[in-house]
Amino acid sequence: MTPFTYDALPARVVFGSSTLQQLPAELARLGCRRALILSTPEQRNTAEMASTLLGAASVGIFAAAAMHTPVAVTAAAVTEAERLGVDSLVSVGGGSAIGLGKAIALRTDLPQIAVPTTYAGSEATPILGETDGGEKITKRSLRVLPEVILYDVELTLTLPPYLTVTSGLNAIAHAVEALYAANANPVTSMLAEQAIGVLGPALTAIVRDPLGKVARSDALYGAWAGGTCLGLVGMSLHHKLCHVLGGLGLPHAPTHAVLLPYAVAYNAAAAPDAVRRVARALGASDAATGLFALARSLGAPLSLSALGMHADDIGRAADLAVANSYPNPAPVTREGVRGLLDAAFHGRGPA
Ligand code: NAD
Repeated sequence: MTPFTYDALPARVVFGSSTLQQLPAELARLGCRRALILSTPEQRNTAEMASTLLGAASVGIFAAAAMHTPVAVTAAAVTEAERLGVDSLVSVGGGSAIGLGKAIALRTDLPQIAVPTTYAGSEATPILGETDGGEKITKRSLRVLPEVILYDVELTLTLPPYLTVTSGLNAIAHAVEALYAANANPVTSMLAEQAIGVLGPALTAIVRDPLGKVARSDALYGAWAGGTCLGLVGMSLHHKLCHVLGGLGLPHAPTHAVLLPYAVAYNAAAAPDAVRRVARALGASDAATGLFALARSLGAPLSLSALGMHADDIGRAADLAVANSYPNPAPVTREGVRGLLDAAFHGRGPA
């Protein structure tokens, strides 16, 4: 066994079907009685369901969460939390709603219950990415880690196929980069392989039958496993590129879906064992082409141009990714990153 360091994160996870019913008990367990419910505008109905269940313990709904956690939205939410005198936050939705809860917690230290409805995995991490003026700044702090995660498979059944697939590939990306993280350890590597192994078949099954509860449940478990990896070890070039492109306005999960095969190909020679484990989990002979084939078979977007990126931004994104690059198995060079982005922009497939 190679030497390693492992720091466990505090986590209470309630996983199952119809677990939203347990929200009042979980809030009471935290000793809280005045919760603010957070969601995106599109998921106000789900936030209202949570509010109804909480009854008098719900003192308001703030349904203006937005992707990449803009600081102006957070400022408005903090003002609302203070006005209402809340003692807790319940974030219902994907990474956008959960990111808003984390951003409020960073500023107020309010306890959070996260109720994830996508596979982004943010609920399991002490990481917060915030945007201000076209740049995404990522911080790590235990203050932002939700106290409780309530996974309710029923709430994921409405996730449309495109979001399901891209969000699922986002979860796979966490697991893939965990396998070649500089601080990888036996726990995260085991969880990472399991996440990839469970998510591939689950996403394929969900595309065929979006209401299939077994596959939905597997995918949600894979999301937790991938998110847990993301929370425990450092990420590399792939996540750096996604953060840079997110700051430039590209959508989070679809960007992950497009870039992952290229990032894996970039690192394949420098991290052969990790990449072999990715291929094994996928049941493919090669990790990068296996991921590309999976994305294609799921109907995921296959090029950055399809996500609305402009060719002129390739150079700027490469500059931003090379400046302050994350630790990465292969050296991060401007030329290398430019080539990767160029291939992903056109959707040429990993070399
Ligand atoms: P999202 O939260 O923006 O959700 C996308 C859309 O899907 C929204 O309109 C949302 O309301 C809707 N939606 C979510 N669940 C649904 C459901 N079950 N049924 C119907 N509609 C549903 O997207 P996301 O990909 O989950 O999150 C992206 C954000 O999360 C980004 O800001 C990203 O930076 C952040 N993120 C952070 C971390 C972290 O650890 N800090 C990890 C992953 C993602």
